[in-house]
Amino acid sequence: MYLIVLEQTLFRMSKFSEVAIVNKKEIANKVFVIEFKREFDFNPGQIIGITMSPDDKPRLYSICSGNNDKHISILFNVKEDGKLTPPLAAANIGDKIWITKVHGKFVFNNELAWWIATGTGIAPFHSMFKSGQNPLKLIQGGRLKSDMYFSDEFKAMNDYVRCASQDTGDGLFEGRLTKYLNELEDIPTNINYYLCGSTNMVMDVRNLLITRGVGFDKVITEIYF
Ligand SMILES: Cc1cc2nc3c(=O)[nH]c(=O)nc-3n(C[C@H](O)[C@H](O)[C@H](O)COP(=O)(O)OP(=O)(O)OC[C@H]3O[C@@H](n4cnc5c(N)ncnc54)[C@H](O)[C@@H]3O)c2cc1C
Repeated sequence: MYLIVLEQTLFRMSKFSEVAIVNKKEIANKVFVIEFKREFDFNPGQIIGITMSPDDKPRLYSICSGNNDKHISILFNVKEDGKLTPPLAAANIGDKIWITKVHGKFVFNNELAWWIATGTGIAPFHSMFKSGQNPLKLIQGGRLKSDMYFSDEFKAMNDYVRCASQDTGDGLFEGRLTKYLNELEDIPTNINYYLCGSTNMVMDVRNLLITRGVGFDKVITEIYF
């Protein structure tokens, strides 16, 4: 019996690597960026699993840092009744977490594209941008101006739009990003669209784009369910 339990534990642990948190910052209310040393290569847009114990099922997170950065960073918001994010937000520098190997196919090939994100769905685009990749346009959505994570960096882009559904001023488009898209006269049909965020946002935007003549195969999605 003891051997079976040990075997199962070793099998679970072999899927994970242990890393130490080297930085943690609350960048908005209950929204954190944690960092740990990068010991593997990845393509911007890929994800890893994270858990605080190898006995728990890992949760998936987009890598937020650039592919040449010294550290891997992860952007997450706290789900009050969630299993992982409350203890992860309370973790200290030096604490150990467990990560899986990198995987995922939400990668950008520097083709002509718009990037569209809400909330923490901005993470893969931040990784792409920090890795030297650029879209024709980035549309970032959230409730408030403070939900536009990394906007100081994205302002260097040629075409960067922030849509705030419950905030005004400072160059913000007032309303959801679906309103912004609906009001556009021209939505190009010969480029790709990368969408990342909640199920509802991704479904709404995909339907909107397809209704406006964009091909199904031109909409590439990552859903944070
Ligand atoms: C491909 C992918 C990439 C992702 N990338 C990111 C990222 O970069 N950043 C990020 O913040 N998030 C990301 N997520 C979401 C992330 O994986 C977690 O789901 C999220 O952080 C919540 O984890 P948690 O353990 O705190 O909450 P969980 O314990 O998983 O709970 C999540 C929510 O579900 C509810 N819930 C839990 N169990 C039940 C139940 N039995 N019945 C009803 N409701 C229940 C909880 O109340 C809570 O509100 C991604 C998800 C996917 C699929």
